[in-house]
Amino acid sequence: MILRQFFDAASSTYTYLIASGTGGEALIIDPVKEHCEAYATLLRQLDVRLLHAIDTHTHADHITALGDLRAVTGCLTVMGQHTKADCVSRRIVDGEVLRVGDIALQGVYTPGHTDESFSFVLHPSRPLAVFTGDVLLIRGTGRTDFQGGDPHRSWDSIVNKLFRLPDDTVVYPAHDYRGCTATTIGEEKRFNPRLAGKSEAEYVDIMNGLNLPAPKMMDIAVPANLSCGRG
Ligand code: FE
Repeated sequence: MILRQFFDAASSTYTYLIASGTGGEALIIDPVKEHCEAYATLLRQLDVRLLHAIDTHTHADHITALGDLRAVTGCLTVMGQHTKADCVSRRIVDGEVLRVGDIALQGVYTPGHTDESFSFVLHPSRPLAVFTGDVLLIRGTGRTDFQGGDPHRSWDSIVNKLFRLPDDTVVYPAHDYRGCTATTIGEEKRFNPRLAGKSEAEYVDIMNGLNLPAPKMMDIAVPANLSCGRG
């Protein structure tokens, strides 16, 4: 299996390319429009065929490459069933599995950052790996103050879904603003300052008190992403 992490410096976004092996099939998670050519180049160099381009949720801080990748590679564009994007060719439901070669990626509905966010668990992988979008970040969690975000649902998704994965599960988030690249479920249970030792009520208070400015790209990115970045 091949797993590559790309970084978009403008939005601190991580993108993940997963392939069954050279000459096999691939999928990509949370691709950024500006880097479409770099993804296409690596796909060619690895000699892999892109089957699925997936967004964990409708991003507010960058424009997705889903539409461009579909135009270049003929891949399917994939999001969770609750997305409002009208350009998605496959909408997955909670628990549904996407397959590329011998790799299975299982969607888990994890609302909270937005009302349509999905996480994806990678099989087979030892230890397990999960791509959490913006729901669970490294020592942080995704804001819950727009796009149907809800701190109670964020807590429920993290504590009752993601934290039920084994402690050694590697967590790959959609962003990190300090340069960390991955974490584990066990680390976040113990060291995430918003979650460790906190009650749901305390978590909700923290999230409701963040007072973050709107993302710079929000007014452009959200409408563009509802048409897979090709509006
Ligand atoms: Fe987000």
